Amino acid sequence: MKIVKLKLEDIDVGTHTPKHIDEEHRSKIESMKKKIKKGHTLPPFFVMADKNSKIKYRRLDGFKRYLAYKELGYEKIDCIVVDESTNIDLDDKAQKKLVLITGYKCNNNCRFCYDANKRSIPNRTTKALLKDLTIGIKYNCDYVDILGGEPTIRKDIFLLIKKAKEMGYERICITTNGRLLSYNPFLEKLIDAGLNSIIFSIHGHNAELHDFQTRVKGSFSQLLKGLNNTQEQAKIKDIQIGSNTTITKLNYEHLPQIGEFLVKNGIKNSEFIFVDPTGEAYNNFKDLVPKITELSPYIKKLLDIGISNKIPHWHIRYFPFCYLDGYENYISEKYSPFQKEVHFGPEFTNLDVDESRKIISRVKAPQCALCKFNNFCEGVWKEYEKQYGLKELRPIKNGN
Ligand code: SF4
Repeated sequence: MKIVKLKLEDIDVGTHTPKHIDEEHRSKIESMKKKIKKGHTLPPFFVMADKNSKIKYRRLDGFKRYLAYKELGYEKIDCIVVDESTNIDLDDKAQKKLVLITGYKCNNNCRFCYDANKRSIPNRTTKALLKDLTIGIKYNCDYVDILGGEPTIRKDIFLLIKKAKEMGYERICITTNGRLLSYNPFLEKLIDAGLNSIIFSIHGHNAELHDFQTRVKGSFSQLLKGLNNTQEQAKIKDIQIGSNTTITKLNYEHLPQIGEFLVKNGIKNSEFIFVDPTGEAYNNFKDLVPKITELSPYIKKLLDIGISNKIPHWHIRYFPFCYLDGYENYISEKYSPFQKEVHFGPEFTNLDVDESRKIISRVKAPQCALCKFNNFCEGVWKEYEKQYGLKELRPIKNGN
């Protein structure tokens, strides 16, 4: 992704209007205008600013989008200003991401799975997925994450990876329960096809906890073998290894042990996801979804483990900022304005994942308007509000 750094004098900070629009920008605006229809919800327009709110950087695509909106006559354009403590790699090439949800079939049966009610939806066909990959290239995605359900149980997984490589994706990732990677020849074949990034779903630090969550005996030992096989391959090949952990009532008291387990196993890119209470988690809400107040001390202990071990990426996702004051640099939503994701699934297309999630799935309380984190924080899941209400949310004021 190309990022331009604009000089302060190029921008009229008061109105956010650029002083000049060159011809190159004009032609980009014209093509942008064809894609944007009036009446659509506007994604926010983002700037980076220093602590005195003087604009230092703009994302090029945000800048172009802004110009296009202006020309279409939109009057209000959201602008989020962040301070320098936001740890953004402006040259990070892996920030335009295509997420390919290949289908909802899986060889695990996790208790919290938000896809559980969708198993009967047919998997996306090979032909449709190849088309999705070409569309991702048109959207300038250079990172594709192939997931399910479970993507490794598809017969065409090697072909999808090979084609993604041929099309020019730089980072080709699968998100997997890791069980089939316990077979080394299978893993090698994936890597030979072009796979260079693997995110393992790890929901416990031992077999008892992980297998209880996945409802498949032996899933942890296969996962561990798959992880070890991948680490061996990563010694000789360029393979990024990451992890996702879904936080539920079943594992939250063990988050520090899970953190230690990930560190011990050399994982340097971990996301901890506060369970999305849809699908199976909604069906068993009270058994699976902890209250924020109960969860927060364990999350802090978990984050401290990543911080003290200097793990480069160690983030909690979908958790309100008011329970992590001082830890906000470790909350994924702080960075989502700078990442663009396009999702294709068997029954949907979502070209603005973060924005639609905020509108459709998340909710905040009236008191959030007073909070210093209001710009970034998404509040809680709507299903959480239905069950537990919003009284826990407590605005953090500047200077607190
Ligand atoms: S009060 Fe609202 S905006 Fe502030 S951190 Fe909590 S949920 Fe987020």
